[in-house]
Amino acid sequence: MNVQANLKKVLADIPAHVRLVAVSKTKPVEMIQAAYEAGQRDFGENKAQDLAAKYPQLPQDIRWHFIGHLQTNKVKYIAPFVALIHAADSLKILKEINKQAVKNHRIIDFLLEFHIAREESKFGLTMEAAEKIMYSEEYGQLKNIRLCGVMGMATYTDDTEQIRSEFRQLKGIFQELKEKYFSGAPHFKEISMGMSGDYPIAIEEGATLVRVGSKIFGARS
Ligand SMILES: *Cc1c(COP(=O)(O)O)cnc(C)c1O
Repeated sequence: MNVQANLKKVLADIPAHVRLVAVSKTKPVEMIQAAYEAGQRDFGENKAQDLAAKYPQLPQDIRWHFIGHLQTNKVKYIAPFVALIHAADSLKILKEINKQAVKNHRIIDFLLEFHIAREESKFGLTMEAAEKIMYSEEYGQLKNIRLCGVMGMATYTDDTEQIRSEFRQLKGIFQELKEKYFSGAPHFKEISMGMSGDYPIAIEEGATLVRVGSKIFGARS
């Protein structure tokens, strides 16, 4: 597995305004170090304890993205250093992220995860549920978290037109939120969508962050 060569190939597909999050979940620190040495700085993990274990073993200027479903009792492991939490989808988790952010004297950036796939099993909010959170009095009191955009996962399918329409839907959600609540907020700018199998489509549909794992680090067992 030549991580550096794979990384180069993926980066060749990615325009300058889109950031690559190299998804290193389940992969050893040596592979992450190799990608780092090739210039990669944004990495993604989906298990809080794995990320907390890798963090001290790797360069401190890595921006760590938490891309998985986060449980409230695990937020404390990543709160001191995480750069962006991609998949927040409840007021409960946001309250815990805020609480841990206060403890660590920092502001934690996050994205709201939206349900765009046709599959039932995936996590994520509807627009209605997201607005319910954002309008709640409790949410208004969470001063140590900052909403920076949206995240979504397309259906796992070969039907590229379906994938494209799901990504387009997420872009529409982003634009609606931007116009309604964040028109004067430059930090509300991220659309996290696209994985190894579909990131070129995601980029065409407006992704600002793509999360690519197996195409860089190889298949996971
Ligand atoms: C694992 C994972 C990825 C990367 O998947 P690949 O298909 O290996 O590129 C992206 N996003 C999320 C949320 C993931 O869990």
